[in-house]
Amino acid sequence: MTFCVVCGTDLAGREVCCEQPAYDPARYCPKCGRWLVVRIAPTGHVEHCPEHGRLEPS
Ligand SMILES: [Zn+2]
Ligand SMILES: [Zn+2]
Repeated sequence: MTFCVVCGTDLAGREVCCEQPAYDPARYCPKCGRWLVVRIAPTGHVEHCPEHGRLEPS
């Protein structure tokens, strides 16, 4: 199952929902749709899912 990282909607097989703005952090986990905790790092931002931990930068 895949969720939109911008709005958290279940994509239900669709490829794209919202277009993620360049340089913007993901807001929702693509794996579970949970709200992500975003930390600002010197190299950019790091997204943490409470379920899956740190997400790999895309
Ligand atoms: Zn969306
Ligand atoms: Zn997750």
